[in-house]
Amino acid sequence: PKYQSVALIIGVTGIVGNSLAEILPLSDTPGGPWKVYGVARRPRPQWNADHPIEYIQCDISDPDKTLTKLAAVQDVTHLFYVTCANRSTESENCEINGKMFKNVLDAVIPNSPNLQHVSLQTGRKHYVGPFESLGKLAVDPPFHEDLPRLETPNFYYTLEDILFESVKQKEGLTWSVHRPGTIFGFSPFSMMNILGALCVYAAICKHEGVPLKFPGSKEAWDCYSDCSDADLIAEQHIWAAVDPYAKNETFNISNGDVFKWKHFWKVVSLEEMMKGKEGVWGEIVREKGLVVTRLEDVAAWLFVDVILGGACMLDTMNKSKEHGFLGFRNSKTSLVSWIDKMKGYKIVP
Ligand code: NAD
Repeated sequence: PKYQSVALIIGVTGIVGNSLAEILPLSDTPGGPWKVYGVARRPRPQWNADHPIEYIQCDISDPDKTLTKLAAVQDVTHLFYVTCANRSTESENCEINGKMFKNVLDAVIPNSPNLQHVSLQTGRKHYVGPFESLGKLAVDPPFHEDLPRLETPNFYYTLEDILFESVKQKEGLTWSVHRPGTIFGFSPFSMMNILGALCVYAAICKHEGVPLKFPGSKEAWDCYSDCSDADLIAEQHIWAAVDPYAKNETFNISNGDVFKWKHFWKVVSLEEMMKGKEGVWGEIVREKGLVVTRLEDVAAWLFVDVILGGACMLDTMNKSKEHGFLGFRNSKTSLVSWIDKMKGYKIVP
């Protein structure tokens, strides 16, 4: 066959989905050549249009539409689930995210006879609990994959349980779970893109001529932090998809180094970004000839407040390394390169 593997990315315009859509079609990607389908809720944005993939617009919270659209792609070998929905309480999160994941699995598993592997992305909230219980639970980082679950509702547990049940439907179907911390990446459509939000914040500060103050707490300024580069996460998904030693396991995924926000704040180049004057995002977008975006899409303020509101809790990459995934990133280079990409695609000035 022309393609050795066929990927279906759910959440292809998201922070990791966009990286997967960029990396999978490359000629030297493990397991390739890859044919790639990508699903997202909205029409395909211009910044995602360069990737040689088949774009499928579909709201996966709708079971009928999901079945119609995904049952039609019958050659899928690998499913990458990199999406989520945010509601106000965690029990609502469990319900909506469980439904979305199940809608996808119910459409894909019975209709894709060659399906081999399901790769699910969750996150470090597996260990710290949902945002609503942050600080209320006794946790003890650095976190490793074998820690027991917390006694609190968590939609990541719901997703895992659905995954473990669903793979039983098909003999030989394998899975992997990937748990990043705060992700450094590109997507203007992500609900949680900290660098995107910080870039927009910086642009607004510059426009209004006010100082770019660190928006977080003293704790977050001073503590050791880490992050997870979106391309590195995509590489781990792909590694797990092709390496037998990664099958049916959960893996933390972080860059492999630590940093302090107070050291990065200089990198986010205050003087350079602070020169501007009055106005709001729409004005900046028009003025700078940027791609038209809604502020709520490109800047998740609440998310940044939470991440920068307290000390970072680290994980350990030992298990991934012991299983053969040796990838890492220099977080400072990672930060600079994602900001450059957002500028290059004219999302921020
Ligand atoms: P994201 O918010 O960046 O992207 C979401 C993608 O899913 C988009 O392409 C969007 O169009 C699509 N989508 C959303 N709702 C949809 C629907 N109903 N139908 C079809 N498509 C839909 O995603 P992410 O941040 O990579 O999240 C994936 C997982 O990673 C989540 O479990 C999240 O909690 C976790 N995580 C994220 C971060 C972070 O910093 N972003 C950190 C740790 C863990």
